[in-house]
Amino acid sequence: MKYIFVTGGVISSLGKGLTAASLGTLLEHRGLKVTLAKFDPYLNVDPGTMSPFQHGEVYVTDDGAETDLDLGHYERFTHATLGRLNNLTSGRVYANIIEKERRGDYLGKTVQVIPHVTNEIKDRIRKIGRKSDADVLIIEIGGTTGDIEGLPFLEAIREFAQEAGPKNALFIHVTLVPYIRVAGEIKTKPTQQSVAKLREIGIQPQLLICRSEKPLTIDVRQKIASFCNVPLECVIEELDVAHSIYEVPLALQDERVDTIVCRYLHLKTRRADMRDWKRMLRRLIQPRRQCRIAVVGKYINLQDAYKSLYEAIKHAGAANDSAVDIVRVDAENIERDGAAKYLRNVAGVLVPGGFGDRGIEGKILAAKYAREHKVPYFGICLGMQTAVIEFARHVCKLKDANSAEFNSKTAHPVICLIDDQQRVVNKGGTMRLGAKLCQLVPGTHARRLYGAPVISERHRHRYEFNNSYREQLTRAGLKIAGLYTEKNLVEMIELPGHPYFVACQFHPEFKSRPHTAHPLFRGFIEAALRR
Ligand code: GLN
Repeated sequence: MKYIFVTGGVISSLGKGLTAASLGTLLEHRGLKVTLAKFDPYLNVDPGTMSPFQHGEVYVTDDGAETDLDLGHYERFTHATLGRLNNLTSGRVYANIIEKERRGDYLGKTVQVIPHVTNEIKDRIRKIGRKSDADVLIIEIGGTTGDIEGLPFLEAIREFAQEAGPKNALFIHVTLVPYIRVAGEIKTKPTQQSVAKLREIGIQPQLLICRSEKPLTIDVRQKIASFCNVPLECVIEELDVAHSIYEVPLALQDERVDTIVCRYLHLKTRRADMRDWKRMLRRLIQPRRQCRIAVVGKYINLQDAYKSLYEAIKHAGAANDSAVDIVRVDAENIERDGAAKYLRNVAGVLVPGGFGDRGIEGKILAAKYAREHKVPYFGICLGMQTAVIEFARHVCKLKDANSAEFNSKTAHPVICLIDDQQRVVNKGGTMRLGAKLCQLVPGTHARRLYGAPVISERHRHRYEFNNSYREQLTRAGLKIAGLYTEKNLVEMIELPGHPYFVACQFHPEFKSRPHTAHPLFRGFIEAALRR
């Protein structure tokens, strides 16, 4: 196996994850099998306990790990199936070490950052290697060089690369080359300093990927090459892309990144044929149609909080030859002003997942508006739960209907905790997580769109549809469209006689790909376009 380590310099938010994912795309197109991992230096054991306000979306893998959102990029840009092993945090490293120490595994030794923490990190790299049949493992190190908490990771990858040998390991540093408007100049000093910081630890990056808003002149490239000790062709320009993140692999290919990487790692492959990727990109950025949908949520001002969701909407747009104009509506505004003001001019309403009671009444009003005005509705997780509450309240006249999450004393807990969850005390990693099978009911939108009787989708929630109300709700017209038969849990609901009122307890957004839009998103956009 060959190893590529991606570090970041100067500032965060440089698009390191996208760069790593795009390199994965290129290597796959050369015929290599690729897997990716993200190592994050913070002390949370996993990102599952972090608010989207802090850390963006929590991405869920098939095996039920709550991971960093970069794993979403990796899965969308490549064919890699990632899991629990592919995201490691300092919190996890220390939790493992302390458990071993308490067990007495260190046989009386002093437990230290070097070698114990670094060994734990190197062990994980080897473990990912053993569990995967990939040719190349790309590991992105979170944070920025110079962060105190990142040091053990940098030391570990330095040691690992030294042990693996130069033909087998490569360092890529993603850095910022800012343009200073008043001076009219591109500045290389931050890059020089950030590479100096890496070299202090003993890492000499072979490739520098320079994020810049202006093209790098030959002078600038030469200066960076010379001061950072890399050949001129290894100073790579990565400009902001014009239309879509899926342009990044093509931009990197123009700079010959994949060729250089393969040469360093002695990988003999064919050239990357990107025709299929370009076709997909054309569909994404030059659609003939247009529609507007509303996403009614809580984390509306944050770009990253619904990352996979927004991507899935774009994929579904492309599959329908349509651009999708997403109107982000804060559910609390609907509570204040009513739904019509915000939803009158949209062709579809999507209510995504979420936690806590803020904005809940607004989401219920959004579902009511969509049901009554026959506007296509797509509810995901919390968006299914609020749709059920709405139906119970306004169609079944169970006035007080609610989820036990928001009102534990409600007379009608149509959404509640099942036994497995009643006894849970710890918050981290204890929800219903990961891929579960769902049996689809014939004659439903879901069954038609998936084109299969049984599907597998990823979960992340504690509360469930309360089966004590199943009889009453279905008698009033609610259709159960999908079931987890093993535990008799309702996974999907629909409203017959409505153009598209579909909601699911799982998170389909995690499985949408730019080439293959997710069926439920595709059906939703199709219905919106029909409107
Ligand atoms: N808060 C709800 C639950 O825990 C929904 C979770 C979600 O939307 N991911 O069941």
